[in-house]
Amino acid sequence: IPQSRMVSFSIIAHVDHGKSSLSQRLLELQGNVATGEESALDTLEVEKSRGITVKAVTASMMYGEWLVNLVDTPGHVDFAHEVRRSLAACDGALLLVDAAQGIEAQTLSVAAAARSAGVPLIAACSKCDLVTADPDAVALALCASGLVEDDDPDRVLRLSAKTGLGVPEVLPAVLGFAKQEASSRSLPLRARVVDSRYDAKRGAVCVVRVVDGVLRENQKIIFLSRPEEALSVQEVGLLTPAPLRSSSLPAGCVGYAICGLRDVRRALVGDTVAESAVEPLEAGFQPAIPALYASVFPPDGALFDDMARAVDRLALNDAAVTVEREPPRPSLGSGLRVGFLGVLHMDVFRQRLRDEFDADVLFCAPLVPYRLVKNDATVVDVKSLDDWPAVDDDEVEILEPVVDVDVLVPTSFLGAAVQTLEPRAKRQLALETTGETTVLKYVLPWARVVDGLSEELANATRGYASLAVDHAPRFETARGLVKVDIALNGTTVDALSFVAARDDAVKKGRDAAASLKTHVPRHQFEVVVQAKIGGKVLARDRIPPFRKDVLTKGGKTVGGGDVTRKKKLLEKQKQGKKRQKTIGNVALSQDAFWAVLNVK
Ligand code: GDP
Ligand code: MG
Repeated sequence: IPQSRMVSFSIIAHVDHGKSSLSQRLLELQGNVATGEESALDTLEVEKSRGITVKAVTASMMYGEWLVNLVDTPGHVDFAHEVRRSLAACDGALLLVDAAQGIEAQTLSVAAAARSAGVPLIAACSKCDLVTADPDAVALALCASGLVEDDDPDRVLRLSAKTGLGVPEVLPAVLGFAKQEASSRSLPLRARVVDSRYDAKRGAVCVVRVVDGVLRENQKIIFLSRPEEALSVQEVGLLTPAPLRSSSLPAGCVGYAICGLRDVRRALVGDTVAESAVEPLEAGFQPAIPALYASVFPPDGALFDDMARAVDRLALNDAAVTVEREPPRPSLGSGLRVGFLGVLHMDVFRQRLRDEFDADVLFCAPLVPYRLVKNDATVVDVKSLDDWPAVDDDEVEILEPVVDVDVLVPTSFLGAAVQTLEPRAKRQLALETTGETTVLKYVLPWARVVDGLSEELANATRGYASLAVDHAPRFETARGLVKVDIALNGTTVDALSFVAARDDAVKKGRDAAASLKTHVPRHQFEVVVQAKIGGKVLARDRIPPFRKDVLTKGGKTVGGGDVTRKKKLLEKQKQGKKRQKTIGNVALSQDAFWAVLNVK
């Protein structure tokens, strides 16, 4: 297939606007998957159980004389980096808008991401089968919004993944994205690493877009970030999305490559694969800036190295995650400091560690990246709350990350949206009403965004408002923030400390203590839980002693003769212990760590 007959496009949209359903339909139509088969795209456990896409998936299909590569992307804000990364490897994008919902906040932000990546867009209305669908109005709004270059509402595609309406028109429309320039297949090899994942048998499996030359099996290659290490290509092929082995991938192709790379930290997304030291390709996207950090620790009995290996392997498949060694903490030992783009991102990572790597890891409550300005003007990052200044320390200025938040709301719910945003916001930047919708722009402390803002906004506006966050935080002076400490039997547990606004801190401290009371298992001795600010105790709760002996139930020993049953019970108890962390002499499970995090 000539390079001029190869095209790669991604499908982008607000969450739930039908990207994965349309992608599945397209794959059915081209015969890649059988009709009625379960989703070929949302294949991760976490995607099936939550019904959302978290990973972009690449699939190549034959369309007449053409090789078309489709990338289904996630829609949730926390995975915006995945979308930007995908766009960097595409010739164009299809912007979907749910014909019953209309334009939402993420519609604007993914369209803006495409524009800044220089990726042309065509627009389509999805779910046109719904009785509430109004594709004509949505097409008009799309053209009026200036999101797409083509401002003829008649050329906005009308689709339904459910009935198949309009689906055959999608591929002919995206062929227009094909680059007309001359073939670059005779040039020296350059391929961009678009994505990577760890495979237990094969090591790193990279998804690459070949830009120049041809990538072949048995070829000697290097990753330009570490040119001294030569590797040999073991296998290449197309993704349909199932791997389809082929002997070579010429320029224009998107496919997979396996080169026996065991050290997974090497197969980095954005790197260039070449035969010799040539000019590297531009990555095409900015590295992700973590919006919050969580300290993670192996549970009792597990090894730090095993945990670190699992985290590295999963991080290979998630270019938005950052991983650093953390200095050992008195209460918790050695751990890692892992950076995420949001709470959902962190939670998905935690679930994937368990689902895909069988690693049960304890996550501490996440912390946004605060900074301190000392009186000699030095700036330090707050890596753990041990570094937080004392309550009466006036010498140190605290800086907090702030972000711009765009909210799109039907004007009839404007009051409710403002009431939700105003108490959290630092300031309002804009309020623009055009007809029935209003766009609100605020500067918010990032900590107040991750603290459940989108849920609260959805509740206040019955789901009509949508929110987009510009993920690159800036730093501004923070006022009135205090650290709340939690002590168990008199010992402060650094992993349970959190930061709150001064006016909120007393309530949050009390709630945290009360919540811990129900989440810390009873011990053979009394456990006293205290919440404190500085030396001042805000709340005190006691967990009475209780001897948890699994072999006695209601005072009676479980059937003396039944050894296997006894063994099973003991085994279960051991399993339960494995996921705990003993701090001082108190055992804490993941629930206890989350109990503090979830205090509202
Ligand atoms: P994504 O988040 O953009 O990938 O959206 P999904 O493809 O996962 O779809 C979100 C929801 O919309 C699912 O419940 C789908 O069944 C539903 N859906 C998707 N496409 C259509 C469609 O064409 N018609 C109708 N009625 N529902 C659809
Ligand atoms: Mg999806």
